[in-house]
Amino acid sequence: MPAIKFRGVDFIQFDSLLTEEERLVRDTTRQFIEDNLVPIIEECNRAGRFPRELVKPMGDLGFFGASLKGYGCAGMGNVEYGLMTQELERGDSGVRSFVSVQSALVMYPIYAFGNEEQKQTWLPAMQKGEKLGCFGLTEPGFGSNPGGMRTRARKIGNEYVLNGEKMWITSGSIADVAVIWAKVENENDKIRGFLVETDRPGFKADDVHGKWSLRASVTSGLSMQDVHIPEANLLPKSDGLKSPLMCLNQARYGIAWGAVGAAMACYDCALQYSILRKQWRDQPIASHQLVQDKLTWMISEITKAQLLVLQVGRLKDAGKVEHQHISMAKRNNVWMALECARISRDILGANGIADDYPIMRHMMNLESVKTYEGTHDVHSLIIGQSVTGIDAF
Ligand SMILES: Cc1cc2nc3c(=O)[nH]c(=O)nc-3n(C[C@H](O)[C@H](O)[C@H](O)COP(=O)(O)OP(=O)(O)OC[C@H]3O[C@@H](n4cnc5c(N)ncnc54)[C@H](O)[C@@H]3O)c2cc1C
Repeated sequence: MPAIKFRGVDFIQFDSLLTEEERLVRDTTRQFIEDNLVPIIEECNRAGRFPRELVKPMGDLGFFGASLKGYGCAGMGNVEYGLMTQELERGDSGVRSFVSVQSALVMYPIYAFGNEEQKQTWLPAMQKGEKLGCFGLTEPGFGSNPGGMRTRARKIGNEYVLNGEKMWITSGSIADVAVIWAKVENENDKIRGFLVETDRPGFKADDVHGKWSLRASVTSGLSMQDVHIPEANLLPKSDGLKSPLMCLNQARYGIAWGAVGAAMACYDCALQYSILRKQWRDQPIASHQLVQDKLTWMISEITKAQLLVLQVGRLKDAGKVEHQHISMAKRNNVWMALECARISRDILGANGIADDYPIMRHMMNLESVKTYEGTHDVHSLIIGQSVTGIDAF
């Protein structure tokens, strides 16, 4: 079977809804992924290796903090940003996760809740990929309900002392700085964000091993035992649980686009394979009605997902997006992508389980994507709350 090369997916002239600049960002990212990630991703996935050599080139292309303005950031519109994450995830969800964390979960909170000095210290270096960040919200005992967190900060003199554990932290052990969310004992346990340099005494990051998903991304547990940080490391405008949730909203938006990329990769691979693969009377499997039904389901769902996330992006650009809109896009598109991965794997038969093709890797990655940044069910509850006015958490 000859090598299958991605050709893009556009059933209803979706491209005509994009500006020239938006298409340029999409095409530049697509080419970068094709040239630099596709040739190495299966090796990275097998070895459980994050392709760190791509950090600098990604910084040079403006991928980090791409939607922020100033501090060397690209200042992209939200649709440009989304198309970039789509193409990154078409390559691999782990690499997209790295970019999302660096951008939406570390640079964004510094940008939104930090003071000028913090922004000057971190944002230009993070934009270039010279400094890496991680986002510590989840704990071993609290995932969907982060408000239950046990991590505490105590103000002593002109320092804060942090104690606690964070779990499932993307880029934890490669980060220079961690945005840590903790309850401040001296402020009635209000949740606030802190910049914690990872070389401070008492801070430890241990990688999670044995993952079947996001193998090209670093995932760590963090432990903080009496970690002293200067009071200047508090993100001064962080104010309760809504602050980390604002960060998650940014990241979820990028995921909603990213999932379209993973789905496109699986669908296009399955489509090409089905035309090349012959069974019965020397005819391609694409000639059978049941196979066509599967391809039809996928292209229909991908097309709907593109339109959904484009509208959410346009609302975001207009300053009119609501968190439930982003929840719908994340929930629908990740579910859709996971279904596409499963159907595509099925179309490839036995070949579908091998890493000669990207499908099984995408499928395993998408299991994490379904869980993180608010599980599928949590987004059901957010949408349910928005339409009924009743909190069912
Ligand atoms: C690879 C990976 C990377 C990650 N990176 C980060 C990171 O960088 N930073 C970070 O802070 N976190 C990160 N996470 C953590 C992620 O955000 C959490 O896993 C997620 O919030 C879910 O929490 P949990 O795993 O504890 O599951 P739980 O909250 O225990 O949920 C388990 C199940 O119960 C369901 N459930 C929970 N509550 C309800 C309810 N009220 N009603 C109905 N069903 C419910 C869930 O939908 C789910 O199906 C990462 C996770 C993974 C897998």
